Amino acid sequence: MIDSKQGALPIAVRNVTKTYGRVHALDDVSLDVKSGEFLTLLGPSGSGKTTLLMVLAGFTRPDCGSLKFGDTEMIRTAPHLRDVGMVFQNYALFPHMTVAGNVGYPLRLRKVGKHEADKRIERALDTVQLGGFGDRRIDQLSGGQKQRVALARSIIFEPRILLMDEPLSALDKKLRDRMQIELRHLHEKLGMTTVYVTHDQREALTMSDRIAVVNHGRIMQLATPQNLYNQPANRFVADFIGDSTFLPVTRRGDAVAHGETRLNLCGPVPETAGLLLMMRPERVRLANETTAPDANRFDARVSEVVYQGDSYLMYAHLAGGAEIALRGAIRKGTVDGLPGVGEPVVLALDVADTVIIADEDA
Ligand code: ADP
Ligand code: MG
Repeated sequence: MIDSKQGALPIAVRNVTKTYGRVHALDDVSLDVKSGEFLTLLGPSGSGKTTLLMVLAGFTRPDCGSLKFGDTEMIRTAPHLRDVGMVFQNYALFPHMTVAGNVGYPLRLRKVGKHEADKRIERALDTVQLGGFGDRRIDQLSGGQKQRVALARSIIFEPRILLMDEPLSALDKKLRDRMQIELRHLHEKLGMTTVYVTHDQREALTMSDRIAVVNHGRIMQLATPQNLYNQPANRFVADFIGDSTFLPVTRRGDAVAHGETRLNLCGPVPETAGLLLMMRPERVRLANETTAPDANRFDARVSEVVYQGDSYLMYAHLAGGAEIALRGAIRKGTVDGLPGVGEPVVLALDVADTVIIADEDA
């Protein structure tokens, strides 16, 4: 097994900008990746994730900004001198070579002797659980195995930094779920600083120590999975990660309200003109009409109930027209016992689940 003994390196990105014509692929990006951390760049297609990864790898030179690995400025360092491993979505393997030929390719480029090379190849294949697969041809492998070969090749030099660009997106869902856990374990074992790119929010939540949410070449928020989900900094992050409904609210002294509903809060209220209450459907509760307190209580009518197998989704509208989504557990395999369309319901939100964010459109 490969075991990282040489220690990982922190990455410091400062004010990096990259434009293509009028497109700001990266717009003044600053980012610190801690030594040994698994950090994910999460964002929609075209948001600048690959560009940032290419800047880290050295294949793209930014217009301005600085990049340090540890204390060393890297912007002018050639890719092959950066001590990084890379894995891409499409594997980038040589189909006519064997597994061992592919994994050992970087060693041949650097003229490592055969004996040493064979040892390293075997170790790398063991690490990705492909021991004994060295003689297979690439086209005899499944998608998941191909991606492991690519991974083995990327760690053959035991790099201190590993960069992965949507490595699992070509795999089907079941295999992807398993590989996410495997990659996570591999990271725990090797301990190298890892920057991972995905557009899949669940994958990001599953794998990461921290997530940087990227949009239009900017970092919208950098936080742990839990903090991103529970305390999104803005509407883009709240929308992109998980499901949520938003209600406009107004200031009432120290508190806020939506129409007649006063909200007891626990978090901070942004200093902006417009404010939104963000509600995660699984945090909204069906409450008892007579015993629910006045605060954090919404009197609504059911507009839709959807059976979704492992849970149900209910939409209910308030007198003012706004709609709230609620997700609940299925009881006895059916939604028959739930209030039907048109019936009144009381929805409640615990104080701990009230999140107020800025309404940038107001
Ligand atoms: P992502 O990986 O998040 O999908 P990219 O980093 O590939 O996004 O691209 C960010 C933006 O920069 C997109 O608008 C893309 O079209 C543009 N872009 C990226 N690379 C080039 C290039 N070589 N030439 C022109 N435009 C590019
Ligand atoms: Mg990309």
